Amino acid sequence: MNIYTWQNEIFGRLLSNRLPHALLLKGRAGIGKLDFAVEFSRALLCTSPDAAGGACGTCPSCNWLASGSHPDFRRVEPAEESKGQITVEQVRSLYGFVGMTSGGYRIVLLHPADAMNASAANALLKTLEEPPGNTLFILVSSRPNHLLPTILSRCRIIAMPRPDPEQAEKWLKSQGLDDPCSRLAEAGNAPLLALGLSREDASIRESFLREISHPSTLDPFALAELHQKSSLSGTLSWLQKWCFDIELYSLTGNVRYFPSLSDKIREIAGKTDRIGLAQYLGSLAQSQRISNHPVNSRLFLEEVLLNYKLLTARR
Ligand SMILES: [Zn+2]
Repeated sequence: MNIYTWQNEIFGRLLSNRLPHALLLKGRAGIGKLDFAVEFSRALLCTSPDAAGGACGTCPSCNWLASGSHPDFRRVEPAEESKGQITVEQVRSLYGFVGMTSGGYRIVLLHPADAMNASAANALLKTLEEPPGNTLFILVSSRPNHLLPTILSRCRIIAMPRPDPEQAEKWLKSQGLDDPCSRLAEAGNAPLLALGLSREDASIRESFLREISHPSTLDPFALAELHQKSSLSGTLSWLQKWCFDIELYSLTGNVRYFPSLSDKIREIAGKTDRIGLAQYLGSLAQSQRISNHPVNSRLFLEEVLLNYKLLTARR
């Protein structure tokens, strides 16, 4: 079966119970919710599942799913041109599909469900209010608080399990990661996120961290220029984690994301004003929210880094 070891129990539990018309799989990003939703759909649609209920991988249904042409399965995700949103047209296009009956399940997978805009959510609500008998909606979300309460109330909400550190490390090792511990720490113990981090251009991240760990010699303008072509949201998120660690260190003496750089973090924490740091973290969160459409990436980053230097390079 293609599910993660930390999902075995919930997989069995869901299969052995009567399913509702709508499931919401919630939990933090990077723990494998989407993969689970896909695998669970495969299992429900498979015509000759194995003893544990998992998909066989060879029947016509499994083959249709693999080729993306299963007549009883729809996957709805934000279209590229819709700015990250699931639109009302996408939801309406499901009406015909949902209205038909077939022998087995008809499954609609919505990911991420919180990407539905208001009209899409209302359109979905209509279907959820009077769901045809054999339809199963699987909503996947790491931000369920962005969903309408009326939608939540019509779903069975499943808090997806997280791996314990040992399971996460073992899995990352099986994916060929040499140093799972530090990546896991950086990803807040979310293994899929950790794998993503390791596949990012590690040298770019490391050079960025090296610069910000030396505030007194940091040149905000040069660094902003160097990173103007990188993902702004990614760069901001490194800085957010870094500053979070500085704050955590000054409060508790521990760090969460960058244990291998804790000496530098301690040094900076000793020189940094706590209130100023808290305000700066707030402004970073705000910057992150608008990072998808800044006017000029380089200018934006210059200001953020200049403020960081002013805050941390005090003597
Ligand atoms: Zn099969």
